[in-house]
Amino acid sequence: TSTTSSKIIAQTNEYGAKNYMPLPIVISEAEGVWVKDPEGNKYMDMLSAYSAVNQGHRHPKIIEALKEQADRVTLTSRAFHSDQLGPWYELVSEMTGKEMVLPMNTGAEAVETAFKAARRWAYDVKGVEDGKAEVIACNGNFHGRTMLAVSLTSDPEYRRGFGPLLPGIKLVDYGDLEALKAAITPNTAAFIIEPIQGEAGILIPPAGYLKAARELCRENNVLFIADEIQAGLARTGKMFACEWEDVNPDMYILGKALGGGVFPISCVVANKEVLGVFNPGSHGSTFGGNPMACAVSIASLNVLLDEKLAERSLEYGEYFMDELKKIDHEDIKEVRGRGLFIGMELTTEARPYCEKLMELGLLCKETHDTVIRFAPPLVITKEELDFALEKIREVFKK
Ligand code: PLP
Repeated sequence: TSTTSSKIIAQTNEYGAKNYMPLPIVISEAEGVWVKDPEGNKYMDMLSAYSAVNQGHRHPKIIEALKEQADRVTLTSRAFHSDQLGPWYELVSEMTGKEMVLPMNTGAEAVETAFKAARRWAYDVKGVEDGKAEVIACNGNFHGRTMLAVSLTSDPEYRRGFGPLLPGIKLVDYGDLEALKAAITPNTAAFIIEPIQGEAGILIPPAGYLKAARELCRENNVLFIADEIQAGLARTGKMFACEWEDVNPDMYILGKALGGGVFPISCVVANKEVLGVFNPGSHGSTFGGNPMACAVSIASLNVLLDEKLAERSLEYGEYFMDELKKIDHEDIKEVRGRGLFIGMELTTEARPYCEKLMELGLLCKETHDTVIRFAPPLVITKEELDFALEKIREVFKK
């Protein structure tokens, strides 16, 4: 066939590195929860670019901020101050209740930043002998694709062929407090955890675990680092997923929706005792904290706050999940989630279901083979959720 879509897919297959396996749909336009292909077919987005588009595609206030900033200044580098960086720092500090903020661009870079901060904190503040600092991470984690993130992962396919990996990392089972207790030594700098594991298939740890793990870290002078890149910023029905257990981490790592799906921006947020370990020359990024990113991020955060998207996610998530749980089909093993961050675990491969949903106009992506993730933009309406439910019921019709 000679459609524009098939041409673009052929180009992509011809020239692109094969590090993704996208569904066969080309998106050329988007607004709110809806996207369109070049042929004009309309689909509902149930992935939100892995939670980067929590505010909805091309939110008018975010686009306005982008355009205004593009007409003023786009990049200063950190060799000079920018008029967007100061206000952005203050807003992020206020929202997280932490004293200091360090901006980067992608999630993985922010994870790198948190790791560097934790190691230096271990040496400079905690008093660990040089070169001995350890960081504990969880089996099943996803912290990105850089060499550090690959070193943190327990997934053999994420690691294969990329060694030698970074030393000083220990893995424990997600949700296993005793394992964490046993892994902590006087050299432990930090424990890094996703409060809900996203890529692993929307896994929620046992009740009380996050809080107990946080206390354990406090007792042992170990930094508790919450990677909220995917679960944070209203996705789970709270501004931060840690709030589900009233946990106040030492460090937040944020990304994705921090830029409203419009501009990449990520950051690490912590108190001065921790982020104060960086001095000029010890860390940085040419684009980190650039004016475009900060202007877009301020607008993106204000949309989350002004439109009460956390509250909306909580309310609609409950409704959506209740309805999904009512679907009776032998291939459905479990429906779990918090807010509009929902995983449907199947007893079989999820990909064919995602392909069928796509044909019906609903874009979902499988994660870890057997889980369908439902994470629509949080601006979704009740009517739009009902549209999605109708399609999902249809593919699970017996
Ligand atoms: N951490 C978590 C929890 C994530 O879900 C992701 C991305 O999916 C990352 C880190 C990496 O972010 P990025 O892809 O922007 O590097």
